[in-house]
Amino acid sequence: MKNKKRIALVAHDNLKKDLVEWAKFNREVLKEHELYATGTTGGLLSEALSLPIHRFKSGPLGGDQQIGAKITEGEIDVLIFFWDPLEPHPHDVDVKALLRIAVVYNIPVACNRATADFMASSELMHREYERMMKRQ
Ligand code: PGA
Repeated sequence: MKNKKRIALVAHDNLKKDLVEWAKFNREVLKEHELYATGTTGGLLSEALSLPIHRFKSGPLGGDQQIGAKITEGEIDVLIFFWDPLEPHPHDVDVKALLRIAVVYNIPVACNRATADFMASSELMHREYERMMKRQ
């Protein structure tokens, strides 16, 4: 992956506020990259950051699957996914599928704020990086 990363951001409803706060705090890092998000998350982020964000469908309407497909095509480099471990969701299977595909394609995934902080402060965010893949 190149210096400029294609970052997908998703947050379940109870965690949207956390993700927006995190993104505002890390705006200087995020503005160097290309941002993608599921529908509602993307709306909140573009308002809070005043940065361009490519918006997919809302998660329950297939947005997670769209991001998964982009990962398989090599068009998303990083996933920041604040999923809610305390609530069931109608699209739980999509959530699981997205996390699975992120691991299969060995892209960096942050599922909570601490991991996202470590990721945002990593120098690899600004350098080229070669992902190792077991199978092509
Ligand atoms: P949303 O989707 O950003 O459209 O709310 C997130 C999700 O629930 O997966």
